[in-house]
Amino acid sequence: MSATDRIALVTGGGRGIGAATARLLAREGYFVCINYRSDAASARSVALGIGEAGGRCQVIQADVSQEAEVVRLFAAIDRLSGRLSVLVNNAGILHTQMRLEDMSAERINSVLATNVTGPFLCCREAVKRMSTRHGGAGGAIVNVSSAAARTGSPNEYIDYAASKGALDSMTRGLALEVAAEDIRVNGVRPGLIHTGIHADGGEPGRVERLRDRIPMQRGGKPEEIAEAILWLVSERSSYCTGSMIDLAGGL
Ligand code: NAP
Repeated sequence: MSATDRIALVTGGGRGIGAATARLLAREGYFVCINYRSDAASARSVALGIGEAGGRCQVIQADVSQEAEVVRLFAAIDRLSGRLSVLVNNAGILHTQMRLEDMSAERINSVLATNVTGPFLCCREAVKRMSTRHGGAGGAIVNVSSAAARTGSPNEYIDYAASKGALDSMTRGLALEVAAEDIRVNGVRPGLIHTGIHADGGEPGRVERLRDRIPMQRGGKPEEIAEAILWLVSERSSYCTGSMIDLAGGL
């Protein structure tokens, strides 16, 4: 890798939307750091595919909800010879569908730790490296939120929806905080996308069950989210910051 390489970190890049984003960014010439938490096999298979297609990447395990692991993740990126120019805060979790009155503090805190604290910590480390205020050369951050931030996810996971609402507030606040420091911060709000996350909620077929409620009458593909993320990190969106793109088939 040369010192001029642009490095893109995709958290949760081993599966679903993150994997599609990692593949697309690699195709665009980024050196991609594929972060994952526990599914090493999936992350390695994404890396293998990128390599076979002529792209370059590295797999880095770290739980983004843990401060020490985020610090270790960025220290590993510092050892690469390129420059971190893109952060995609994609890692996110949800738990079994239930009503709010049945939720434990442990459950709520685990969702907030991964979906809110994680992106905060990754943004903190990225800003230190990208901001012109700290001698950096700028960059772009995309936070992967959810249509749930708008709908509230009643009877399913209000904790998850609220975590995405918090992420939207952070996206707006950070975008303004670093707007004059050559860092753009934007968000995407996917709707019902075909990935494994719905099985974690206890309903693998959730997208199909709800498809009639989607104005476009179909669930989305991870690649359709990745395209918007690519646009937001590219120079083509050079005047866009603090914005959210809804990618939900009209939902
Ligand atoms: P997914 O298929 O379940 O993949 C989630 C990825 O996040 C996995 O790679 C997982 O790592 C990683 N991850 C989870 N917790 C982590 C942690 N603490 N540290 C590091 N990595 C962690 O989910 P997805 O559907 O692609 O979702 C990606 C993002 O899109 C999430 O933020 C989600 O909220 C958002 N989103 C999804 C939908 C949808 O319908 N699918 C809709 C709206 C928003 P392992 O592979 O190691 O487990």
